[in-house]
Parts: sequence; structure tokens; C-alpha cells
Amino acid sequence: MADTTTVLLVEDSRFFASMLKRRIEDVLGFAVEWKATYAEAAQAMDCCKDDFLVALLDVTLPDAPNGEIVTHALNKGIPSIIFTGGFDGKMREQFLSWNVVDYILKDSATCVDTLLHTIDRVARNRHVKILVVDDSHSMREALARLLRAQLYQVFDATDGVHALEVMDRTPDIALVITDYDMPRMDGFELIKHLREKHSKSELAIIGMSASGDTLTSARLLKNGANDFVPKPFNVEEFHCRVGNAVEMLDHIALIRRLSETDTLTGLYNRRYFFDRAGHFLGRCAEAGRTPCVAMVDIDHFKAVNDTYGHGAGDAVLVDVARALADSFPERAIVSRFGGEEFCVLASLAPGEPPARAFDALRARIESATTHAGDAAIRVTVSIGVACDAPGLHALITLADDRLYAAKHSGRNRVVDG
Ligand code: GH3
Ligand code: MG
Ligand code: MG
Repeated sequence: MADTTTVLLVEDSRFFASMLKRRIEDVLGFAVEWKATYAEAAQAMDCCKDDFLVALLDVTLPDAPNGEIVTHALNKGIPSIIFTGGFDGKMREQFLSWNVVDYILKDSATCVDTLLHTIDRVARNRHVKILVVDDSHSMREALARLLRAQLYQVFDATDGVHALEVMDRTPDIALVITDYDMPRMDGFELIKHLREKHSKSELAIIGMSASGDTLTSARLLKNGANDFVPKPFNVEEFHCRVGNAVEMLDHIALIRRLSETDTLTGLYNRRYFFDRAGHFLGRCAEAGRTPCVAMVDIDHFKAVNDTYGHGAGDAVLVDVARALADSFPERAIVSRFGGEEFCVLASLAPGEPPARAFDALRARIESATTHAGDAAIRVTVSIGVACDAPGLHALITLADDRLYAAKHSGRNRVVDG
């Protein structure tokens, strides 16, 4: 099941099923296997349960009118989303007791969008790690069961001290859900410790408490929790708050990626370069390595656009960017500064000649061909390298001067001194 993206759709209405199938395929790009009856669906579940990311289940089927298919799916361990035409308080209780991913009403105008969003969320949840911290064994079990039903990867800890150990071993935990009142280290102290290392944009924290005292929730939130859920809790509210916390992290990561990278080539942009360069230089100093700046500019690139069109020009930029990224897979910030100009901040070991890596890059680009439509396009680059100036801005200025010299002395060359 690990990375499957096949959705099992069990729905007797041909019209609704084909519409859903198309939307899931078009919007999410997931495959859909459609079954119209309990008998067919049960057979697919029995034979191939691991093929399915999630099952979308109509609770009333001609040969199983009372939700029997849901029990069958859950017995097989297939995460299930129920959709239903009718709905009352008793049904809601039943759906929740089944521990399904979610239940969705068919008659609401937005039900298909909600369904798509839920499927997408579940697919992503498989990669999200959540740490549950509570001294009560039964509470840890209950929360873990709810979270696993949403396909999250769940870790647990019995108090704050234990939680910090788990965090050290599993640094990519995205969300910590912590009780307040625990032995050794309470939720309040735990959050304080976590926030010393992890900002709200990297790690979400939800506090929980049975104290009923509004001061507790306020203190947890003021100390760095993103949200608070009182105990005893409403299961749907819990799921919504967890979902919101995880989505917030996703949104922040997306915004960060968009603000740091160039959309065409995927390389870092100028902003990222200048944000991170100071840190990079600091690391070079600590490690006794020499920082070097290389300005790389494609030769006569305007002619590529003029001859083959802008789309072909873009394809060349993508290929040159890949050659740059592949040539400096580590210990370097490879960025697109703008247009057809790239800047590499690299570090050299003591005694390593600056020109070697850059000349290899130059030669690699010279011998590569970009295929765009019928055209086979070859380009060269000129490179100015500076390792011998104090500080970032002096390095950039010197590399720029040397790039200019490379252009004026015939292009397709590296000038490093
Ligand atoms: P030189 O060898 O002196 O560097 O000449 P050049 O033609 O490469 O330099 P010039 O600065 O005259 O032209 C750069 C061209 O790069 C002009 C611009 O239209 C093109 N360009 C800038 N950004 C993009 C882009 O994102 N895509 C495409 N296709 N072209 C771009
Ligand atoms: Mg407790
Ligand atoms: Mg150029």
C-alpha cells in the first residue's frame, strides 16, 4: 500500500460513479477501480487489499443496504471514506465508531470537492509523522488509532523527557500532540524545549488537557502551541484540528519553496542565495575551506531565442541548470541570478585549483545537446571565478569582472585570475 495511488470506488449509481472517477483521475491523477455491488467490491478487497490507497464507499448498495461494505473494508484494513445520501445523529455515531477516514454527504453542493480534498490529504498523510505524548496508555492508544485511520505515521512518548528523546531520533516529526499533566516533564515544559529548536513553521504542536481551566490552554498557546484541544474531545474536532495543523505546515513549505526557487529551472533564486550565503561562508571558515563565487552566463543566448523560439530557449536554460546542479551536488549554493545568468557559491578544499570544477562544467555544457521539437541546440557558457577576495560582495564583483573578461576574450572559457 505504501505508495499506491489507486482508489477503490464502490457506488451503484453509474452516473455518480463515472463523474467521480473522472474527477479523481483528472484532478488528482490517481487511478480509480470502480465496483457497483457489494459482491464485486468485496472480491476486489479480498484479492488485492494492498493495491488500494483508500476506498470510497456508498453505504447503501443494492446487495448490502446497511453499510456492510464498510465493515468488510475495515476488516481488511483498507482506509475508507463513506459517502451517504442521508444522515442523522445515529448514523453519525455509527460512522465515527467505524473509525473511517471521513464521511461525506452526497447531497451537498461541494461534496465532490470535499471528497477530492480528503483523498489528496490521505495520500499525503502517509508521509507525515506525528508524535503523541501522554502518560495515559489508553489515551495514547486512542489517539494513535484515530491518527492511523488517517494514515499518519504515529510515534508515541509517555512524558516530556521521553518525547524529546523521540524527537532527537526522529527529527522529521511534523506534529506533536501533547498532554499537559505528565510526570517528569509536563506539556508546558516540553513545548518550551521544543520551541527552542523548532519554529512554528517547521513543527506544529497541539496541546491537550483535561484540566478544564482556561488558564492551561492559554499558557500552552502562549508558550508556543499552535492549537489546543480540551479532553474529553470530540473526534471530528480533533481530526479537523490535526488536519489544519498539518495543512498549515504544507502551506508554509509551499510558500517557502516558491519564494526560494526559480520556477523554470528549480534552482535557488537570488533571494535564497543572498539569504544563505552568510551562513555558507561561516561554515567554510569553520571547516578551513575556501569560498569561491562563479558567475556563469550562456553565450549568445539571445540568438537561441531568435533562431529557435522562446520555448526552445527555456529548454536550454533547464538543461544548463541541470548541468550546474549535477556538477555541484554538495557544498555549494547553485542559483539562477536572472535571465541566462547563474551564480554558484562553492567551497574548495585547501590547495584545490579553482578552475578545475568550473572547466569541467564548461566542457560538459559545450558537449551537451538540447532537443526542442526538431531542433538540436548546442550552447556554450562563459564563467568568471573568484576565490581571492574578502567577503561575498567582493567575490561577486570580482567574478563578474572575470566573466566580462571571459566574454571579451572569446567566450566558452573560464577566467579565474
Ligand atoms: P552574451 O554572450 O554576451 O551573454 O550574449 P547573450 O545573447 O547571451 O546576452 P543578452 O544579455 O544579449 O541576451 C540574453 C537573452 O536571454 C535575452 C533574453 O530574452 C533571454 N532570456 C532571459 N530570460 C529568459 C528566459 O527565462 N527564457 C528565455 N527563453 N530567454 C530568456
Ligand atoms: Mg496526563
Ligand atoms: Mg549571455
